[in-house]
Amino acid sequence: MAAKSHEEEHPNKAFGWAARDQSGVLSPFQFSRRVTGEKDVAFKVLFCGICHSDLHMAKNEWGISTYPLVPGHEIVGQVTEVGSKVEKFKVGDKVGTGGLVGSCHSCDSCSNNLENYCPEMILTYSAKYHDGTITYGGYSDIMVADEHFIVRIPDNLPLDAAAPLLCAGITVYSPLRSYGLDKRGMHVGVVGLGGLGHVAVKFAKAMGLKVTVISTSPSKKQEALGHLGADSFLVSHDQDGMQAAAGTMDGIIDTVSATHPISPLIGLLKTRGKLVLVGAPAKPLELPVFPLLLGGKIVGGSGGGGMKETQEMIDFAARNNITAGIEVISMDYVNTAMERLLKGDVRYRFVIDIGNTLKI
Ligand SMILES: [Zn+2]
Ligand SMILES: [Zn+2]
Repeated sequence: MAAKSHEEEHPNKAFGWAARDQSGVLSPFQFSRRVTGEKDVAFKVLFCGICHSDLHMAKNEWGISTYPLVPGHEIVGQVTEVGSKVEKFKVGDKVGTGGLVGSCHSCDSCSNNLENYCPEMILTYSAKYHDGTITYGGYSDIMVADEHFIVRIPDNLPLDAAAPLLCAGITVYSPLRSYGLDKRGMHVGVVGLGGLGHVAVKFAKAMGLKVTVISTSPSKKQEALGHLGADSFLVSHDQDGMQAAAGTMDGIIDTVSATHPISPLIGLLKTRGKLVLVGAPAKPLELPVFPLLLGGKIVGGSGGGGMKETQEMIDFAARNNITAGIEVISMDYVNTAMERLLKGDVRYRFVIDIGNTLKI
């Protein structure tokens, strides 16, 4: 059977912006979405955050990209249609989709609400769906997903500033919970003050933790303490400051995706403290074993979160008025935004106003 074109493989016309090759440059793209299945929710996309992984994927830096590639996995909007067996959502609801649109529903991870660790999880874009077609992300006008992978956005959360919670938010919320770093009064370090780090500070403060931001740039001190409400600030190359804070932290959420030494971070941990990596450096990090042995310390990782936990995270954010710091942009600004993101020139997340600015 000849492969159908992107425009014809499904019945419903869709429009978005796609990267066509490793240049990563995005341009308008006509494609199609599947018919809303009996367990599917279709929604009009209103906003979509720009995650660092969108940039990596658009340029095929992880070697798994399929072109044309429509990025975007911090997608929010309003439900336009639900399938006959959908139970949790109705037309008009505010909803969102994060990094996942499918999983096997039967493995150990799925049975424990950890779809994010399912070996057969299906990414929101540039992955093969159950029907064999390629998934497309949220830089587009409409979205269709199984209701299991749809999150309800509570009314008091502004949709634009809530969008980044669906990836950045759950990426830092999940390790705080699953590593038990969520007990009031605990002291947690947050390494890096970008898209992930700034939300980590907000969640940790809302959990009643003492929060220290650890950064390479002294210029972020005012931001960390004044704006985000962190309790203290450490410059990672300030040896005196790091020494003074040695052995004081119950845990550290490390959001840095550049290669960096973790030995100084391990030194900040208390006995049995936990260093959790959520950034993804391209090269392996050096793991100093002695400091781990001598303090009974743990180095772990965490990637995204399951659907139950993602809903819990959004509800927690709504109760505590937590949103991401954003810069809203128009669709045709996306290539410039990608260049600025590469330089770290954004506080803290770009969000595309899809609803008002995506024009055919
Ligand atoms: Zn992401
Ligand atoms: Zn599974």
